[in-house]
Amino acid sequence: MQQVCSRVTRVFVGTLIHAPCLGEVIISQSILGIDPQGKILFIRPYNQLEAVKGEFEFKDTSIVQLSPSQFLIPGFIDTHIHAPQYPNTGLGLDKPLLEWLSAYTFPLEARFSDPNYARGVYNDVIRDTLRHGTTTACYFTSVHVEAAKVMCDLIHKWGQRGLVGKTCMDCNSPPSLSQTLETNIQGSKQLIAHISQLGSSLLSPVLTPRFALTCSEECMRALGVLAREGHYHIQTHISENKREVERAHELYPTADSYTHVYQECGLLTDKTILAHAIYLTDQELGICKEERVGIAHCPVSNFALKSGVFDSRRILERDIKLGLGTDVSGGYTVSMLEVMRQTLIASTCISFQTQDPAYRPLDYREAFHLATLGGARVLGLEDKVGSFEEGKEFDALLVDVNSLRSQIRADPGLSVSEKFQKFFFNGDDRNILEVFVSGRRVETQ
Ligand SMILES: [Zn+2]
Repeated sequence: MQQVCSRVTRVFVGTLIHAPCLGEVIISQSILGIDPQGKILFIRPYNQLEAVKGEFEFKDTSIVQLSPSQFLIPGFIDTHIHAPQYPNTGLGLDKPLLEWLSAYTFPLEARFSDPNYARGVYNDVIRDTLRHGTTTACYFTSVHVEAAKVMCDLIHKWGQRGLVGKTCMDCNSPPSLSQTLETNIQGSKQLIAHISQLGSSLLSPVLTPRFALTCSEECMRALGVLAREGHYHIQTHISENKREVERAHELYPTADSYTHVYQECGLLTDKTILAHAIYLTDQELGICKEERVGIAHCPVSNFALKSGVFDSRRILERDIKLGLGTDVSGGYTVSMLEVMRQTLIASTCISFQTQDPAYRPLDYREAFHLATLGGARVLGLEDKVGSFEEGKEFDALLVDVNSLRSQIRADPGLSVSEKFQKFFFNGDDRNILEVFVSGRRVETQ
């Protein structure tokens, strides 16, 4: 039997804030200890430091006392981001999805045939997402497997937690991005092998058919088989835009719905992440629930590309797993704080339109839960990250509402709950002083 390690490498003394249950933000004055493996060894009341010192081994332990303007929160989880699109953030957003893809996205992604170009962009994406507090990200890369390997090497080097997929496209795509079925499957297998060789507990592969419009049924079926063989994650897009939904019906006229296309290809599992899902019917949501897939809600992208307004409450009421994503570069920022704020705006828009007087738009507590533990559930990581619990890995942000050049005006007399609300609505990366992944402080510059 393995002996439990009781050595403490680092202790934080101060305010912890997390949202382990939907709709509730838990605030405590605590001491939190981390073990050499980066796991949370203990969480105890604030005044028990001396007692804890007698219980665990304190040797070269760093003890960090947080100031009254500081607190720890779980790291943010971006469940949907396109790493190669990062240079395009803020560009072409006057076009709808399918035109934007052709005019901006596909030409940029074609440049990732050059792994050296990929290295520069991917380095920027990882550094900037970390600096904005994204400790876990579920990444699309381009179709190019060598560039995808570079992405994995860089994530490993920076120490972010990540899922990485080689995007698969084999039809209705520009020649520069269309690959044969065989190339797509072999590339996906090569990426899986590369991640396995890296031997990182923070990195996982995710099979990535771009969406039903650019993947043949054969390609999607083959990826479904591969996913089931290795119990790998799957990510794709669904029902982001009305024209896209029409196009899916034109391409798959015998399928009952867009969701049925994926279901029949074996792509819906408890490790599947579906991005957007704005226009799913009740029947399609029934399939999502039955297959236990997760949904990545990307409001910044949905508003920027005028794709539609997603109803988070409708998903939560059905107990379908829901997380948040930036969807760079449909979304114009890597900031999950901005995604949380626009999650509230989307939900408020729905509340204006609905005929149901009992409809409750989401509040900041719920959005914070979705950006942390909600995202962890979507990615199957809820036992590891997303909240502060003994035994979980320490993926966390040290926030200071009074940091240098902070845009937050926080009166010292505010309660902790009010300081957190200030950070939620007015904060940015300048308030995130330190970022930890699996107990290790990562660089963000
Ligand atoms: Zn996307």
